[in-house]
Amino acid sequence: TERTFVLLKPDTVRRGLVGEVLSRYEAKGLRVVALQQRTIDAALADQHYVEHVERDFYPPLRDFVTSGPLVAVVLEGDQAIEVVRALNGATDGRVAAPGTIRGDFSLSNRENLVHGSDSPESAAREIALWFPELAR
Ligand code: ATP
Repeated sequence: TERTFVLLKPDTVRRGLVGEVLSRYEAKGLRVVALQQRTIDAALADQHYVEHVERDFYPPLRDFVTSGPLVAVVLEGDQAIEVVRALNGATDGRVAAPGTIRGDFSLSNRENLVHGSDSPESAAREIALWFPELAR
C-alpha cells in the first residue's frame, strides 16, 4: 500500500465540487487518511511548488492557490500515486480525457481542480510539509 498527497484547489471548493471529487477517489477504493480545509499563505505555496517558483506561470498560480480555502488530503491504497494521477487526468483541463476529474470539470490549465503527488519522493515531501504529524 502507498500514500499520496492531494490538493482540492480553491476552484474545487468555490464550485462546490469537494464531495464529487472526494467521492471519485473513495469509489476507486482509496482511503482518506487525513483531510483538512485551510487557506494557505504565499510562503506555503512556494514550499509546495518549490519546483515551479521560477516559472513564468507561477505568480498567477500562487495567487490562485492562495485565493481561498482549499482541502489538503492524504490518500492511501495500492499504487495510490499513479491511481490518483490517472483519476485526475492531464494537467490542462481543456484536453484532459472525459472520465477524469479535470476532463469532466475543468476547462483551464491553471484552475484544474486538483493536485496529486508525482512520485514517492514528492509524496513523502508533501505529506511532511502539509501534515507533519503524519511524517514517518
Ligand atoms: P499537479 O502537480 O498540480 O498535480 P501537474 O503535475 O499535472 O499538476 P505541473 O506541471 O506540476 O502539473 O504544474 C503544477 C500546476 O501548475 C498545474 O496543476 C496547474 O495548476 C499549473 N500550471 C501548469 N502549467 C501551467 C501553465 N502552462 N499555465 C498555467 N498554469 C499552469
